[in-house]
Amino acid sequence: MHPRREVSTPMATAPWQRAALGANLLGSDGGLGVTIFEEMTALAVQTGAINLGQGFPDEDGPLEIREAARAAISAGANQYAPGKGIPELREAVAAHQERFYGLTPDPQTEVIVTTGATEGIAASLLAFAGPGDEVLTFEPFYDSYGAVIGLSGATHVTAPLLAPDFLPDMAALEAVFNERTRVVLLNNPHNPTGAVFPRNVLQRVVDLARKHDSIIVTDEVYEHLTFGVSHIPVASLPGAAERTITISSAGKTFSLTGWKIGWLSGPEDLVSAARTVKQFLTYSSGTPFQSAIATGLSLPDAFYEGIAADLEHKRDILSQGLRAAGFDVFSPQGTYFVNVDTAPLGISDAVDLARRLPALVGVAAIPVPVFCHPEGAARTRSLLRFAFCKKTGVLEEAAERLATLSGRL
Ligand code: PMP
Ligand code: GLN
Repeated sequence: MHPRREVSTPMATAPWQRAALGANLLGSDGGLGVTIFEEMTALAVQTGAINLGQGFPDEDGPLEIREAARAAISAGANQYAPGKGIPELREAVAAHQERFYGLTPDPQTEVIVTTGATEGIAASLLAFAGPGDEVLTFEPFYDSYGAVIGLSGATHVTAPLLAPDFLPDMAALEAVFNERTRVVLLNNPHNPTGAVFPRNVLQRVVDLARKHDSIIVTDEVYEHLTFGVSHIPVASLPGAAERTITISSAGKTFSLTGWKIGWLSGPEDLVSAARTVKQFLTYSSGTPFQSAIATGLSLPDAFYEGIAADLEHKRDILSQGLRAAGFDVFSPQGTYFVNVDTAPLGISDAVDLARRLPALVGVAAIPVPVFCHPEGAARTRSLLRFAFCKKTGVLEEAAERLATLSGRL
């Protein structure tokens, strides 16, 4: 196994092209295309397929949060919010970190609000990494990571997550760290694999980051979507807090992916560096939605337990259907994605299958190789990701349709 791959970045290539290359945004015609999520959603709309590709819920989050946004608009919260976010939301984020994890960021200096987790990731990466640096992620990796690392000018190196449990090979992880590893960009719970990393894996990452003086940027947007296991924020581990930026957002927890309210927390020096960049990306983020999300973060524990239990049930419905359709199913411990191996159906190319699946059976999914560099893509060639954040009736219908697949290949 050779876990490291350097993306070649020829001088003649513009930064946005390098970013697109890093994110596997090359369209099927070889030109620069849209993200895989856009492509598969468009295909689902075109064919009338059930869209289990792009991960977004088909039911909106709690009414009281939506009403709080309406009330904030009526009350005049319609001009720029402070760049670092309204105090009410920063305080709610700090209280959330303490309630669930015992972390105590100072809402004045150690928390900022961002335009979704996506901006928190971009601001952090652009603040900490540049040409000559390496940014380490696991592979497969969420698509925006490759793009933003490309924009920063740093080199993207990866350590593989291997089926069936998608935990890293520790030796490969250690081998990829070196004195140029400026940032380790973690994602836990992990999209697309659904892995929830146990304490020993996270502690190893922290120890290696300390050894090589790397900053940890951790994307924990699925923190409340775990099944039978607890999410451990890496910032809570010994040796981590002083070098870790923790990022999350309202999209997944509250089923409000269109609001794009996110936040990050960590030590003041790291948070201020990310804030400086954030000022010039968006300056500030949706004022009335910020106060509504502060309301959401204050919901009782029962709300958080409820969303996880509901999703676990949905995971089981879809997983059973996928198994009945003949796939090998890798049951996730977190997120709202389940991955399958299509090889038992005689399929070797999941990208090709994903493009044909909507027309074949009326279901859309995302091929896992698109979350990889070429070496990782070869390793995950037959894997396909399905989203289960949909109504149970929709998942049952999708399962019925998928059951007909083997007869149509
Ligand atoms: N990180 C991961 C791992 C994701 O799956 C997503 C997808 N929604 C995001 C970040 C983006 O979050 P947001 O919509 O809050 O920008
Ligand atoms: N996070 C979502 C997913 O993985 C997609 C978000 C997007 O379309 N950029 O499906």
